[in-house]
Amino acid sequence: MINESNLLRIPGPSPVPPSIQRAMSQPMIGHRGAETSAMMKRIKPELKKVFGTKQDVMIITGSGTSGLETAAVNVAATGDEVLVLVSGSFGDRFAKICEEYKMKTHRIEVEWGDEIKVEDVANFLKENKNIKAVFMTQCETSTGIMNPIEELSKAVRENSDALVVVDGVSCVGGVVTEMDAWGVDVFVTGSQKAMMLPAGLAFVAVSDKAWKVIEANEQARFYLDLRRYRDNLDKDTTPFTPGLSLIFGLEQALNLMNEEGLENVYARHTLMKDMTRAAMKALNVPLLTEDDVASATVTAVKPDTFEAEALRKSVKTKFGLSLAGGQAHLKGEIFRIGHMGFCTPADVLQYIGIIELGMSDIGAEVELGAGVKAAQEVYVKQNN
Ligand SMILES: *Cc1c(COP(=O)(O)O)cnc(C)c1O
Repeated sequence: MINESNLLRIPGPSPVPPSIQRAMSQPMIGHRGAETSAMMKRIKPELKKVFGTKQDVMIITGSGTSGLETAAVNVAATGDEVLVLVSGSFGDRFAKICEEYKMKTHRIEVEWGDEIKVEDVANFLKENKNIKAVFMTQCETSTGIMNPIEELSKAVRENSDALVVVDGVSCVGGVVTEMDAWGVDVFVTGSQKAMMLPAGLAFVAVSDKAWKVIEANEQARFYLDLRRYRDNLDKDTTPFTPGLSLIFGLEQALNLMNEEGLENVYARHTLMKDMTRAAMKALNVPLLTEDDVASATVTAVKPDTFEAEALRKSVKTKFGLSLAGGQAHLKGEIFRIGHMGFCTPADVLQYIGIIELGMSDIGAEVELGAGVKAAQEVYVKQNN
């Protein structure tokens, strides 16, 4: 196999389009100069559209987790009561961050592969009146579940004064995101998933309601203090040296999304999800999640007649196709396909075809072509 054959279909980092690669290779410029300010000015309105908000979106140089930690330390303080909705490993990470800061952290947990139930959250908040913030994960990347953020946010607002904080790291840019209309107070994402960039930037948008809390919050913080980012962004700059190469890339990523049209970007992701799921069903390989709560950006597959790890190894060695394994107790039980950002229906047909060959290679029962055919049929149906 040619060494450069590298089919990256894990749920982040995701492949970077060539025009973004080129944008990122531009020579360095001064971060306090007019060129950088002009670039920030151009980026600001475009980034808002991706979040569905009128608020400015702040950019932090750090991985997605820096965005999660930023959200936590700005909206709550040591000793505050918070609620974390845990549907997998990223919900668990949010809870661990809160616990690390010694916030009084309550958890509502569901079985991995299930979505958070809205009435559980409403009932909890009716009985616990001191919750300052509710942390939730939009797409739980470890299972491929999509939590019902709009409904969860509504339940929080109807039953408490708590802020709604959402981790959208593995889906913002790939799925409909309506921060303002959904009443979300803090929305976080990262650069290396549906945003088509390498890792290194976190994006955080904040509601007016949350700003009041953030202003009054006495929790110690420095690099992650959102007030610094806001005050600088008002002047089209950043408090610290930003990851400028990534920001060059970000501008091109936003250009690409605009050229395609955000609605078409979202429809493409839904189509890729539907094609992938139809293929697995046609191959008689069980999925971890139900259709109506499945994420458009990542699909978790739970084979029962072959080893997930053997398949991953086969497709990686023979075709350079990287699929992700399971996390924590799902390790070895599932494999996960990332279909986000720089990924198209053509890529879906490719990885389905390779997965079929991988199944055949490891001795699993497989009707070659059955998955590809099912995916093609979904494509034909949606394009007629
Ligand atoms: C990838 C991811 C993160 C952030 O991970 P980093 O490695 O810090 O970038 C957070 N939440 C979710 C849901 C993710 O998928």
